Amino acid sequence: MSSKGLKHKVKETKQIVKGICRVCGCTDDQKCWDGCDWTDRNHTLCSRCEKMPKAEQERHREWSINHLSERLAQYQGQVDDLKQRLDVLKQS
Ligand SMILES: [Zn+2]
Ligand SMILES: [Zn+2]
Repeated sequence: MSSKGLKHKVKETKQIVKGICRVCGCTDDQKCWDGCDWTDRNHTLCSRCEKMPKAEQERHREWSINHLSERLAQYQGQVDDLKQRLDVLKQS
């Protein structure tokens, strides 16, 4: 998984989102559970993830994707539930 061989980096398709850690996905509002700080100017890597070796970062990123997906599914379920309840109230 080396990018050294790539002559053209597809920068235009990969946008930098400031304020979200690219490893764990934490934000200013949702910091890591034991606290963290930004380590770069763009705020894309937090101090907790920066300490991890590369392989560990990759693993943690995978874990975070699963974790956030699960949470999203949970919230989605709650949103659907709320919508349904609102619909019933509005209709009556
Ligand atoms: Zn992080
Ligand atoms: Zn963090």
